[in-house]
Amino acid sequence: MSSKDKSRRIGDRELSPESLMMSYGYDPTLSEGALKCPIFQTSTFIFNSAEQGKAFFEVAYGLREREAGEKLGLIYSRLNNPDLEILEDRLTLWDRAESAAVFESGMGAISTTALTFLRPGDRLLYSEPVYGGTQYLFSQILPQFGIETRSFRAAMGPQEVREAVLEAGQDGNLAFVLLETPANPTNHLVDIAQVAEAAAELSTEERKVLVAVDNTFLGPVFQHPLKQGADLVLYSLTKYVGGHSDVIAGACLGSAALVNRIKETRTFLGSMGGPWSGWLLMRSLETLKLRMTAQAANARIIADWLAEHPRVVRVYYPGHLEEGDADYETFNRQCEDAGGMVSFDVEGGEAEAFNVLNSLQLIKLAVSLGGTESLAQHPSTMTHSDIPPEQQRAMGITESMIRLSVGVENAEDLIADLEQALAG
Ligand SMILES: *Cc1c(COP(=O)(O)O)cnc(C)c1O
Repeated sequence: MSSKDKSRRIGDRELSPESLMMSYGYDPTLSEGALKCPIFQTSTFIFNSAEQGKAFFEVAYGLREREAGEKLGLIYSRLNNPDLEILEDRLTLWDRAESAAVFESGMGAISTTALTFLRPGDRLLYSEPVYGGTQYLFSQILPQFGIETRSFRAAMGPQEVREAVLEAGQDGNLAFVLLETPANPTNHLVDIAQVAEAAAELSTEERKVLVAVDNTFLGPVFQHPLKQGADLVLYSLTKYVGGHSDVIAGACLGSAALVNRIKETRTFLGSMGGPWSGWLLMRSLETLKLRMTAQAANARIIADWLAEHPRVVRVYYPGHLEEGDADYETFNRQCEDAGGMVSFDVEGGEAEAFNVLNSLQLIKLAVSLGGTESLAQHPSTMTHSDIPPEQQRAMGITESMIRLSVGVENAEDLIADLEQALAG
């Protein structure tokens, strides 16, 4: 048992991620006994000897097999840095992943992963709506490299999603499927296990159709895509994991075999995260579960209140799914909580939605999500504005829709703010 495996247990008891976020993967004796992991603000690392430098490079460049227990030595901060490595170790715990790679942004994680596994002639399939940056990368950038991209609507039922995957794989060119669930901003769900099964049916010995899930909205506390059969999990750590709206970063998690390939691409694209971001994110991880739990509890109170409000036409919140709803079973199988994102339609159109947004006092008018403060925005003219109106409507994004990212404030204060804004 390695010292890391040992530090995860007390006797037979396996410790929970929230218990390990303050210490896992960090050895104070290597840092003058400092309780907290320092910021290793250094570009390069000193070798003890020329022989050691040679050995580190042999491992880093795969020039020979690693000896038993031999780790990648510290060389240069584009390849590795303690703040990044310890953060990566801690991130694996929530998703029970073998390995993790951290990037300077969520888009850095998504683009580096896509460029690792896609080649000219390959096809990429993704659920819609996806994050605007992802949508642009897939629809505008990757096609310039000869990669064909196709999408299906997250609002379709599991059976239709299965058919969309099988159809995209009919000619053998499907290489990669990316799901974003719950979808932003409609909170429609995609059944991860169903897609993973279809992808497995299409996979051959030589070619596995990879399934990746952007788990930014519910993960890593409330949804675990690897458990549902996905190969890779992607994050914008900027959102819930960072949680304080003060750092941009991303991650990709999965098997060591896949993540090592992604790390190789990362080394040469230079899209790794820096030590300062790594340090901030380790600090954030200590309170991740507390924050997400408080945000989800507030979101439920607000969603329930909105559903009763006479000027609210519809609330989009997975916690309100009922037996018979298309996503009900998917929710029960793959989500451990409904999370902190709530969208709603106000009576009227854009003007009425703007009126509410302009009247909010405590809730700030800004894009992004997952931070301690509550934010509101208008998807149709803000985060999703580069999607033509007809397509927005087809995806379920209305003119009167407001998206809330619920923070950790007092729930009654948030309701007081919404109440006065809806009365205006
Ligand atoms: C914000 C976000 C991204 C992009 O992350 P950045 O850290 O801004 O690069 C990707 N996916 C989802 C779901 C997001 O919310």
